[in-house]
Amino acid sequence: MNWKRALLTDSGGFQMSPLLHLADITEEGVTFQSPVDGKPMLLTPEESIHIQNNIGADIIMALDDVVKTTITGPRIEEAMYRTLRWIDRCIAAHKKPDVQNLFGIVQGGLDPVLRDICVKGLVERNLPGYAIGGLAGGEDKDSFWRVVAQCTAGLPENKPRYVMGVGYPLDIVVCSALGADMYDCVYPTRTARFGTALVPEGVLKLKQNAMATDERPIDPTCSCMVCKKYTRAYLHCLVTKDAMGSQLLSYHNLSFMMRLSRDLHMSILEGRFPEFVRGFLRVQFPKGDVPQWVRNAMEVAGIDISECCASTKCLTPSIDEQPPLPIPVEANGGVPN
Ligand SMILES: [Zn+2]
Repeated sequence: MNWKRALLTDSGGFQMSPLLHLADITEEGVTFQSPVDGKPMLLTPEESIHIQNNIGADIIMALDDVVKTTITGPRIEEAMYRTLRWIDRCIAAHKKPDVQNLFGIVQGGLDPVLRDICVKGLVERNLPGYAIGGLAGGEDKDSFWRVVAQCTAGLPENKPRYVMGVGYPLDIVVCSALGADMYDCVYPTRTARFGTALVPEGVLKLKQNAMATDERPIDPTCSCMVCKKYTRAYLHCLVTKDAMGSQLLSYHNLSFMMRLSRDLHMSILEGRFPEFVRGFLRVQFPKGDVPQWVRNAMEVAGIDISECCASTKCLTPSIDEQPPLPIPVEANGGVPN
């Protein structure tokens, strides 16, 4: 890859979950059909760590037993306890703890008692970082942020806390307010493939007819290569005809996410994070229709956003509220990028 900067590899646990009709989880590991020749393959915690040791990323993830947050019943509890048993097998198999950081993953669905057991169990193992897993799978937003808040509160403040599979710019701002440090998501590139660009106000749909004659860049405040060189009209022409359009939108969207992260990070270092949050919300919700779950989360985070919110009395649910990410199976049957 010739990539000289920080690198993270995932264990394969999450990547198995969309393939569950082809996979079988037992105490030993995950058996699945090879996407190449259809033969059964077994991914164990030891094999996942072995592969990740060979790749050599700076951060490697434990193999966990992932279940969707929207299911209920004993399977959630089984997966959480199995994730705790597997972390010990991952730790034992990890051959390069001096140069590669093994992160544990908190499971437990939406059940605060199970999440608490998992957080405590992982913290006892004194890992270099911790992830909050099993979210962004279609649960309601209030359940989502409450799990994040509970886990960040129980995980050590001096170690990275990583919310897996998140997310939308708004989710990243909210989770950061709740103490999270790291994220990953296919959203910026996937939404680009649908012709959607991320902008400070929300999203810009380049396929819309109105874009055909719009000579402005995607985002006049963005300094990325795409915004410097191309008009919305040109990109509209591309995204309605040619795969190159989604590549240019991906470039801009990743640039947008990096700028958002950098600005967010700087505001924390400079002690003005609450003002950053208010500025972000003012631009995203100029009418003051900040969703109720965001208001609830900010109250718990201790950030006063009352100036960004219209009175709750006249508040109707925002029609722009983004849907949960779909199960990440691409048309070609491959796993998500
Ligand atoms: Zn741009």
